[in-house]
Amino acid sequence: MIRYKAIISYPEIVKREGIMLQRGMNFRVNLKYSIILMSVRKGAPYNDQWHDDTGLLEYEGHDVPRRGDLDPKAIDQPMEHPGGRLTENGKFYQAARAYKEGHAPADIVQVYEKIAQGIWSNRGRFELVDATMKSDGTRNVFRFFLRPTTTPAAAEPILRDSRVIPTAVKVEVWRRDHGRCVLCGSRKNLHFDHDVPYSKGGSSITTENVRLLCAKHNLEKSNRIMSVAPWFLGVTAAIISRSA
Ligand SMILES: [Zn+2]
Repeated sequence: MIRYKAIISYPEIVKREGIMLQRGMNFRVNLKYSIILMSVRKGAPYNDQWHDDTGLLEYEGHDVPRRGDLDPKAIDQPMEHPGGRLTENGKFYQAARAYKEGHAPADIVQVYEKIAQGIWSNRGRFELVDATMKSDGTRNVFRFFLRPTTTPAAAEPILRDSRVIPTAVKVEVWRRDHGRCVLCGSRKNLHFDHDVPYSKGGSSITTENVRLLCAKHNLEKSNRIMSVAPWFLGVTAAIISRSA
């Protein structure tokens, strides 16, 4: 079983999904599917697990928001908000139960797994097939069960785009650049930067023309490309050559 399907940066996830993902559970954020962020890393906030024998993902529900002195880890994970609206836990739970009881097709869930700071793996789409609430020893937590999709609609790739940097290239670039921005050494919010823009004929994507950039340097680069007028580039060049 391939554990890491495709390695992508957080900014790429945001760009691909078209929304800022500020929390781990996002029920039907677009018309077609839900999105969850998960991690099995040591020190991860929730206890998510891959079951390699079945391919199932077991995903923990989320805590109440931190408020005052209350320890969210000591409180039952909530089904509803104080006003009675369902939490994300509640929405996923009801969808899973509806499927289990034969009232609805399984909800489709796009899964991203955090591998390291700023680096994620696209695990593709899953079906939400079951949910339970059980004690973890001190309190009740939700456990959701998701299986890799088999339906044609769900198996459809998210992005069929030749500009996508192949996984093998990303993994190699990540290793070569030591998981750091090549300009400042930052390990945060890294982005795979394709050096030669497609519009300028940078067609073949190889490790030679891909590098790691932090969000700041990636933004600076795109700002330069987007907003600098040609006459300004000429002025800059003149200043640089004079001061040299
Ligand atoms: Zn940087």
